[in-house]
Amino acid sequence: MQTIKNPDRNQWAELLSRPTQTLGDIEGTVNEIFLDVSENGDAAIKKYTNKFDGVSLDSNVVTSIEIKKAIEQVPEKLQEAIRKAKANIEVFHTAQKTTKIEIETTKGVQCWQEKRPIQKVGLYIPGGTAPLFSTVLMLTVPAQIAGCKEIVLCSPPNKEGELAPEILFAAQLCGVTKIIKVGGIQAIAGLTFGTETIPQVYKIFGPGNQFVTVAKQIATKHGVAIDMPAGPSELLVFADKTANASYVASDLLSQAEHGTDSQVILVSTSESLINDVSEEVSKQLKVLPRKAIAEKAISNSKLIFIENDSLALELIDAYGPEHYIICCENEDLYIDNINNAGSVFIGDYTPESAGDYASGTNHTLPTNGFSKAYSGVNLDSFMKNMTFQKISKEGLLNIGETIELMAEAEGLQAHKNAVTIRLKDLK
Ligand code: NAD
Repeated sequence: MQTIKNPDRNQWAELLSRPTQTLGDIEGTVNEIFLDVSENGDAAIKKYTNKFDGVSLDSNVVTSIEIKKAIEQVPEKLQEAIRKAKANIEVFHTAQKTTKIEIETTKGVQCWQEKRPIQKVGLYIPGGTAPLFSTVLMLTVPAQIAGCKEIVLCSPPNKEGELAPEILFAAQLCGVTKIIKVGGIQAIAGLTFGTETIPQVYKIFGPGNQFVTVAKQIATKHGVAIDMPAGPSELLVFADKTANASYVASDLLSQAEHGTDSQVILVSTSESLINDVSEEVSKQLKVLPRKAIAEKAISNSKLIFIENDSLALELIDAYGPEHYIICCENEDLYIDNINNAGSVFIGDYTPESAGDYASGTNHTLPTNGFSKAYSGVNLDSFMKNMTFQKISKEGLLNIGETIELMAEAEGLQAHKNAVTIRLKDLK
């Protein structure tokens, strides 16, 4: 890991850049696959599954027999853990329900706002290097609570043409309507245009590698909404001299093992902690089964020493991490003064993996600095706010002239007339 001491402000942009390809690098491939899928449907899907996942499938729709077989393969203890995690995610996301907001803005003018579920949603579950069945819970639980009618799940098949049994177990536990074995750009294209087997949806959710993330961004040009750009994982830890170096190292590695394009950063006001963490990372890395992946990600990662708390806070805000861990004496300073982060983990006993699996918060979060403008997945992501109004005779008498004057000033005579015609009857 590269150590940088008190970086100059004009170095920040380069220092904090992500190791991923840009939208421009991948856009050409995405457009090509989108066109092919929109014109040739399942035939194109089959071709790209063969090309990118190395498997030829007769049918990509998961059958009830496959689900039944999968459930038998998941050990009872793991089933229990999945149920426990699901319960916590349910509790946290149910608490996010808000009631109807209703108010009289002017006497006789009643306005209210209510939420309605998005009827058709597509959920992407990553499966390239690890089948992330935890993501099934993170997306299906809020979709169910919101009341989405059609929940379609896509995930790439392995070399045997199958999905991990844990993915199928979690999907049936959470009431998914249809499960399709398709991944990458072709999955997003299928959900965008619809094919013979993949239903077209209104909104696509879920994390993925850079191909998936760019495909989701392009999908918005074709009229589909997305949760957010949730690409390769990243973590920024702020730790001072009081932090436990081996805990910090374990957190950094937990995100580094996601993919070679993951990025982890330690910002610290203590040089000795930085040295200790660096040593610990090397030690813990040696024995990881996904050492090769984590090692590559670690080589993109940085240890940044900053003497001054306010500069450290500015730098963290400029990065806008997906995950932000705070391990320091003055926690509140580092909590209250941050505006940009997907999800925040506080204290020595809050590893980031708690949020990845079981504490209850959602792990589908904005990456690549998008936390400056986007929230992570939450209950509202699966709902739309609709507004309603009912105006009485008295209400129209109260605001009619205001509308007439504004409509006339904008040159929209028909707008004005819609009020005038009624006011004439009332006066
Ligand atoms: P994935 O399912 O996202 O991607 C696998 C698919 O990528 C394959 O099916 C294939 O179709 C496609 N692909 C691979 N190489 C390609 C190429 N050269 N051209 C076109 N398509 C190609 O699984 P993954 O690769 O394991 O990535 C999962 C990602 O999800 C990781 O980067 C991880 O960090 C990220 N993640 C993010 C969050 C978040 O909330 N931001 C949460 C969990 C995981």
